Amino acid sequence: MSRPSLRAIPAVEKVLQALGETELARPVVVSVVRRELAALRTAKTIPPIEKVLGQIRDALGALRSSRIQPVINGTGIIIHTNLGRAPFGRDVVATLSAIASCYNNLEYDLQSGGRGSRATYLEHNLALLCGAEAATVVNNCAAALVLILRHFTSGNRKEVIISRGELIQIGGGFRIPEILEASGAKLREIGTTNQTSLRDYEKAAGPSTAMILRVHRSNFFMDGFVESPGPEEIALLARRKKLPFVEDLGSGAIVATEKLAGIEHEPTPAEVLRRGIDLVCFSGDKLLGGPQAGLIAGKAKWVATLKREPFFRALRCDKLILAALQTTVDLYLSGAVLTEERAATVPTIDMLRAGEQELRIRAEKIVSALADAPFAASLGRGKGQIGGGTLPRSVLPSVTVDLQPANIHLKDFAARLRQSAPPLIGYVANGRFKLDLRTIFPHQDAAVIRIVREAAADGPRLQHSGK
Ligand SMILES: *Cc1c(COP(=O)(O)O)cnc(C)c1O
Repeated sequence: MSRPSLRAIPAVEKVLQALGETELARPVVVSVVRRELAALRTAKTIPPIEKVLGQIRDALGALRSSRIQPVINGTGIIIHTNLGRAPFGRDVVATLSAIASCYNNLEYDLQSGGRGSRATYLEHNLALLCGAEAATVVNNCAAALVLILRHFTSGNRKEVIISRGELIQIGGGFRIPEILEASGAKLREIGTTNQTSLRDYEKAAGPSTAMILRVHRSNFFMDGFVESPGPEEIALLARRKKLPFVEDLGSGAIVATEKLAGIEHEPTPAEVLRRGIDLVCFSGDKLLGGPQAGLIAGKAKWVATLKREPFFRALRCDKLILAALQTTVDLYLSGAVLTEERAATVPTIDMLRAGEQELRIRAEKIVSALADAPFAASLGRGKGQIGGGTLPRSVLPSVTVDLQPANIHLKDFAARLRQSAPPLIGYVANGRFKLDLRTIFPHQDAAVIRIVREAAADGPRLQHSGK
């Protein structure tokens, strides 16, 4: 079989000229063009130049859309890991902007004029918020757990006792047994998936035991013939055997979720510490609604030894994370999270609290603003989820704007909305494209109307691609 002449492949310079302005830096465009043209060398036939340009534009478009950018979340999933988990409120954004643009006293003691330690204020207040003797912060909850495991299994004792009912997987790639292994710990699994007794813990605790680990089943639940001892009982055993007792709590709600939104109760760090846990770790960007971070709270002597670990240095947070977390923690301590004007505080908590009535009023406004659009828009019901692998049993009854565009497949309509500026993300259910108002900020309502109108006005250009 004969190859087409390579001379049929257009020159890079010619393609660049034909592409014109692309919003991407020139070296980036050149690299994409070269890659696409190189792929033609092995093609059976060289397509016409217009087709080649089309493919290159698609490749550039795909690259451009992968830049981190704001999107409107109409999924109703509050802690959406794919959409960046917790958005920040006005106070946190103001702190970030102030700290980012100047020097600051990150490691400078303003009293003595000498070197200071990082995060002193944050650690003090975080401990207070968790009802703990001490607290500290690393990059994320996974890192916190690895730090803890490495520290307690660094000596001769390598075994970590954990119930088989807690050997869980969180999201993509976080599996407790693998985290243990990667930390150099030896897994000592006890009990069965649904039944673990105090006796199982007692039998397993021996000369090779380094610590006892409890992992909160944050993203699923078990029902039926299920039994495991409470932390108080395990804590007594741990004390008797002089073993550290640690809980990976995952979500880390600070306020009572059942009072906030009538959903199930999520254990708080303060509560598990009161029940006898020595050290607890949880995420900064799940139910706390702060930046990505791994928070560790508990016994002062353990927190201090963790901070002395050389590995702690590799996991430390940067100034922006510390600043955002500091403001978030203070918003909780001052009570502002539940009392103040909402836009200023913690959006995650606001979205949990938002009542159906206020969502309906906004949805009605959007629907009536779309009354003359060439498709049906109506009010619908949604089942908002908390997301982020938290509170799996809870759904928040919510209000949606339901769209039924004519002459365009729903999948293509959704794709078009994802390509708008800013991208608008919703979901398809019952033959409609749905936008859940719970996770859309009120200040975004006008943009939603504009984007949906524009997408509909585009006409039935994109037919269902079957992809
Ligand atoms: C989410 C979760 C983690 C991981 O937290 P990151 O902050 O995303 O690293 C660990 N353990 C549990 C129980 C979780 O729910």
